[in-house]
Parts: sequence; structure tokens; C-alpha cells
Amino acid sequence: MSDRIPRFTHAGVTDAEISVHPFATEDGLGLQLTRFRRADCDDVVLLVHGLTMSSDMFVMPEHRNLVTHLHDEGFTDVWAVDFRMSNRYPYDMETHRFTLDHCALYDHPAALAELRRHVGDRRVHVIAHCLGAMTFMMSLYAGVATGITSVVCNSVALTPRVPRWSRYKLAFGPALAEYVLGFSFLDPRFGEAPAMTRGWMLSRLISAVHRECDVRSCHMLSFMWGSGRPALYEHHNLDDATHLRIADICGGVGVHYYRHVHAMVKAGRAVKYDRGDRRLTALPDDYLAGAGGVRTPTLLLTGDRNRVFGDSNLVCHARLRQVAPGLHELGVLPGYGHMDPFLGRDAHADVFPKMVDFIKRKAA
Ligand SMILES: [Zn+2]
Repeated sequence: MSDRIPRFTHAGVTDAEISVHPFATEDGLGLQLTRFRRADCDDVVLLVHGLTMSSDMFVMPEHRNLVTHLHDEGFTDVWAVDFRMSNRYPYDMETHRFTLDHCALYDHPAALAELRRHVGDRRVHVIAHCLGAMTFMMSLYAGVATGITSVVCNSVALTPRVPRWSRYKLAFGPALAEYVLGFSFLDPRFGEAPAMTRGWMLSRLISAVHRECDVRSCHMLSFMWGSGRPALYEHHNLDDATHLRIADICGGVGVHYYRHVHAMVKAGRAVKYDRGDRRLTALPDDYLAGAGGVRTPTLLLTGDRNRVFGDSNLVCHARLRQVAPGLHELGVLPGYGHMDPFLGRDAHADVFPKMVDFIKRKAA
């Protein structure tokens, strides 16, 4: 028996009834919600993962995870969605032309409809990460997601900003990957590809300039996301088991999402990718255009060492404060990067209490 942590395990949540709730999107994808219920509760919490991650990021057994933390703090009915960006599905690595607009229009409203079928009109709070946070906020600011009591967004929300090296990667990476190198997707596991294949060679090339650790998937992820060694987290914040299985937590992805993020970075805010697409008419061209009308309070969180989305949430907070003074809050996490606020060994002590404090105040 290996002592390796199995993929897609729920062993990190004990003392709870766990159930899976499939639902479909209007454009034909099968998605699911997982419910972690210890008892009924007036304040339901919905967790939304980031791109290439999954609900697994909230239930990791190697540290005190967010679902368990919420249960112990009295939020005893916690749900986690796996939307189309989840590594539990094949969608990220299939040939596709999904953009963040598709997530905003199709995934989050369908997830909320399924959630409401079970929890009725109880208060719903959302905690979301990375492009899960951005796409959920896009749903909310487009008015296609409603009835949310509060939102916590980690790393980014409606004003994506990235380091300079990431701007180059966003601008040239998709065409280079698809048309020159012939990769329809990038996979942190390229290091395990057969010797001398293109994936193997790319991984060796990247590892040659990443001497900060000896985990090839960690190097690949730094190449895929952000700008740094490593880019996604502070090494010392992670448990060794998490670092070694980081490719279980963050999977592979097609490069088309990068094009939409790049369009937003150039615009300085969340904008629709294809204004001419008539299937997306329910969405605004500019997601901040109606920001003054949104009354859902948001806690914008970011690590002060965020090398993926930099100061995006500081800028978003300043922007939203202009249109809705006093409604939104900013939380800066000293010593944290992009995803260690969830994956970190000590996140339960350094980060989760800030989320819980915010939700408790909004639940009152
Ligand atoms: Zn590493």
C-alpha cells in the first residue's frame, strides 16, 4: 500500500454527510456540486475553485481544510461546485473555445439553481478563488447570479492585473503553443511524458531555469501561471505532501482561456471576449458598467506575494469603493502568494479566520 494521498478523496472531511449533486448547463456540460453537511444551518457556504483546480482544494486531508474549518465555526452546510474549469472533468484538456463568459453565463447560475433546490431561501455566502472568483463576480455583476449574501474573492476579482512576464506569456503563449509547438493544452505532468516527446522536452527546458526545487510539476505550473520561482505559492507555506502532489491539485489546461484574460488585462477590467456572440447577449460588454447597482458585500483577499495576479484585488477594492462606498472590504495576507491562502499548511490559522469573520458579520 502506498501512503500517497489518493486523488479526488473526501477523506479530509470527517463527521459530515457527503452527497454529490449533478446538474447540466444550458450549453450542454455535465457539472456537479458536492455537499458537506454536518447539520442544517441558516447560512450556507458555496466554495468555488480556480482554473484547473477543483473542489478538492477545499477538502485536502494533509492539512486542516476550509470545509472542516467552516463546519467547526458553525457553518455546517457547505457546498463546493466543480464547474467547467475543474480538473475532475476532461473539459479543460479537450479541444474547446470556452471563455470566462461561458462560465459566468452558464455554470454559476446553473449551480445556484441546483443549490437553491436543496437549501431554499437560506442565506448563501460564496468563497471563491482565482478565475472561479473572477467568473463568479462576472455572473454577479452581469445580474445572472442573484440572491448572494456575501462573497469572498481570493487573488483576483473584476480587475485582473499580471506581472510583465505574464503579459508576454498571455500575449504570445496561446499562438505559440497551438500553432508553433503544437500543444492543444499544457499539462504540469509533461515531466512524466515519454523521453524525447515534445512534452518531455518542454518540461526539461523549463526545469533548466527552475532550480528552486526538484518537483518538475511545480516548475511546469510556474511556467503556466504567473511569474516567479515558484509562481503560485511560497514553498515554505506548503506541506511537503502538497508540494509533491501539486499536479493532482492543479491540472492541465487548453490555452484559450489565456486569450480572454489577456483581453481583460489590456482593458484593465473584466470585459466580454466576443461582443458579437449573440448567445452571450445576457452579459454586458463591460462587467463593471453596472457596478453601482450591486449590493452584495465582497471581501477582496490577496497575499502580499501574489505573483499571478499581483495587486489586482487592491485595485478592484479601490474601484468598487468609488461606486459603492463602505460596502466592500480588503484583506491583505502577509507572507502569502496566489493559492497558498487555501493550500497552505497554516491557512486555517492565518487566512480562514478572516473569511469566517467576514461571513459572520454579513450573516448577522
Ligand atoms: Zn516547487
